[in-house]
Amino acid sequence: MPHVPLTDNPRWLNRLSRRTNPGRVVNICFFVVLLFSTLLTWREVAVLEDAYISSQRNTLENVAHELNNELQLNIDRLQYFRNGFQAGLETPLAFEVMRNAGEEFERDRKAHQWSIFLDKRRTFPVNGVSDEFVDNTSILSRDNALLRNELTATLEVGYLLRLSTSLRRVTQQMLYLSRAGFFLSTTPVENSNDIVEQYYALVTRPWFAAQSQKSNPSRGVRWLSWMADTPNGQSRRVALTLPVDYQDYWYGVLAIEFSLPQIKQLLLTATAGETEGEYRLYDSQMNLIASTVKPGDMPERLSEEDKAQLAQAFEHDTRGGLRSNTRYISWEKIRNFDGVLIRIHPLNEGMRGDFGTISIALGLLWVLFTSMLIFSWFLIREMVRNMSTLQESLQWQAWHDGLTRLYNRSSLFDLAAKAAKKCEQHHQPLSVIQLDLDFFKNINDRYGHQAGDRVLAHVAGMIGAQIREDDIAGRVGGEEFCVVLPGLNKAGACAVAERIRQRINGREMLIGKSITLRISASLGVSSSDEKGLYDFEYLQSIADKRLYLAKQNGRNQVCCEDGECQCD
Ligand code: GH3
Ligand code: MG
Ligand code: MG
Repeated sequence: MPHVPLTDNPRWLNRLSRRTNPGRVVNICFFVVLLFSTLLTWREVAVLEDAYISSQRNTLENVAHELNNELQLNIDRLQYFRNGFQAGLETPLAFEVMRNAGEEFERDRKAHQWSIFLDKRRTFPVNGVSDEFVDNTSILSRDNALLRNELTATLEVGYLLRLSTSLRRVTQQMLYLSRAGFFLSTTPVENSNDIVEQYYALVTRPWFAAQSQKSNPSRGVRWLSWMADTPNGQSRRVALTLPVDYQDYWYGVLAIEFSLPQIKQLLLTATAGETEGEYRLYDSQMNLIASTVKPGDMPERLSEEDKAQLAQAFEHDTRGGLRSNTRYISWEKIRNFDGVLIRIHPLNEGMRGDFGTISIALGLLWVLFTSMLIFSWFLIREMVRNMSTLQESLQWQAWHDGLTRLYNRSSLFDLAAKAAKKCEQHHQPLSVIQLDLDFFKNINDRYGHQAGDRVLAHVAGMIGAQIREDDIAGRVGGEEFCVVLPGLNKAGACAVAERIRQRINGREMLIGKSITLRISASLGVSSSDEKGLYDFEYLQSIADKRLYLAKQNGRNQVCCEDGECQCD
């Protein structure tokens, strides 16, 4: 069956409307809406994430600032004592008590161990070891020319230390360790026989050698953490140290030693008021120094991968952050400590906060919107599908005859007129066959209208089978049919008409239960090649006239001429 142009629209518009079928347009529209809503949500989430990260960094920055202040107090304290020491060296006190102490030292310096007090309540004692001990150790040296002044300066610092510890409760151990074989400590030596042992323990601390002029040319403060032997096994300790030099001579080291609980206390003071997240202080070797986890809880270990990522980041930046599984880690180097402060914020805590709530609301909104979109897409797609089917069916009904499924009269006339115009333009012939069933009334009368209808449908099928795709066949009256044959001359059309006639009359037709019937039809043919006229209505009237000639001539025949029918 040839394609029937449904409207008089230009061809390009028809083609466009065929391509852009409504179902496809609906799909594209919904997809675009879904894509943009997802992109928008994703962008919002990205903005939220940025805001979350900067809030994390701000919080960490505040804590780092507090911690720096806490640590700065200790650094200031060390610098204060170094200044005191250097002042003592520059202008030694010429008191008698100092002279006596010097003489006491001269008396005892060869002894295995010794202790010099000025006043037990006002100063800390200076404890020392023998000349022999100093001579046997490469890093130590007793320069007699400088020794007296150093001793009086140490006793002065001992006075200052006592003063400062009594003014404010200082829990950390503070000490001065001299290269000349003596030391001063805020922690008293419990057994005077342990002086050598304690001095040895102090000079073998890693921070002492690390403050030599070679190891620390800048002569500034240094932090060091190391594993120390304690009566309860090994435990990590942290020291803040400052070398004491005067006139390019390295005298010794001022140090504050912290236990890890003391560092933790500093961290807790710095994080006071912070309820979310865990803070950790690591040294430069990524050893955990302190954590704010509750007492009894073990801080969760950082994975090797996280540690490696952090170590790499420390090399380039002073602060940053990284996402690690279900937590966000922000970090910042501490100006007053050789290490880094880390804040670990678990996702579940983040979810409970403002950013989490907004993200969840945004996510839910997206899910709701998407599911509504998918639901409405489904409904609209179904509606569009039903409407297209309905439209196609209505269009078909408007153009076709329901019983015979051929074109109806008006669509046949329409199509035939267009075909005639086209043939005329291309100088091609156009032929018309008009067909009427013989004695059809009798069939109706004898076998009923239903049987008649069956015959009509059957005949229509046979006509359709005998024509080409470009030919147009339609039902123009009760049992009258018309076939338009574009490009076919009269001889060809007559041959087609004869074929149709023979086919209709060729076999008996089953029209009811064991009722067979042989039917026949009369046909009239006309063609534009007779007079060169292409008016379809004219050609159809000529074919109709010849059809009646065929009737008059005895029916079951084709009439192609106006005069007498040529009958086969
Ligand atoms: P003739 O050989 O002269 O054509 O004889 P005829 O009986 O076929 O005469 P005519 O063409 O005048 O008869 C038309 C009949 O077709 C009348 C009507 O009962 C019948 N008819 C028209 N439309 C339909 C239809 O849709 N269904 C059925 N069953 N019969 C129809
Ligand atoms: Mg008739
Ligand atoms: Mg008839």
